[in-house]
Amino acid sequence: MSRPRSQPWYSGAHRALEPDVGPVDEHVICECGHCDREQSYRLPWPVIGGDIAYCEYHVARYREHNPEIWERVRRLDGVDDPGIYATVGNRFLTLNEIPKEIAVDGEKMRRVALGVDGWALFDSAEPDDDGLVHFVTVDRDLEPRECVEIDRSSAGDFVSWFREHEGVHDLDPDARKALYGGESDAE
Ligand SMILES: [Zn+2]
Repeated sequence: MSRPRSQPWYSGAHRALEPDVGPVDEHVICECGHCDREQSYRLPWPVIGGDIAYCEYHVARYREHNPEIWERVRRLDGVDDPGIYATVGNRFLTLNEIPKEIAVDGEKMRRVALGVDGWALFDSAEPDDDGLVHFVTVDRDLEPRECVEIDRSSAGDFVSWFREHEGVHDLDPDARKALYGGESDAE
């Protein structure tokens, strides 16, 4: 399958930047950091020109966050409709879709972050009698996917590790405050 060449669609100062747009057919990993799914569609980079290739989940997130650019891409002649590449599965697109509190096996858990894989990270609202807290990732159906038990004193380190190694899209504001004392982060 050959890839249709996109039309230049920026104007004015951005004319020199002609993002490639459309489906990709190489078996290459999604260009969103930390994502290990195959890229499926190339979209304009939303801020500074150029382009980026995402997997189906990250195409769906892009649609959520860049509705205007999405509409412009949809209207391009000769380019596949990106909509068929925007599939979500049991994944969350934004932090706001994730409940602030859930119960997992009867334990009250608080929202911590939206991971790059589209699953939500929660931690125990209270440590247990041994001073341990649980971290659990859940899918959009709130089904637990992965769980670890951490000493309460290492909980902040675990969130930092998760952020660095698994990747997060958004941190819950309270979790951010606990980690960074309320400093805001650009993402
Ligand atoms: Zn991806």
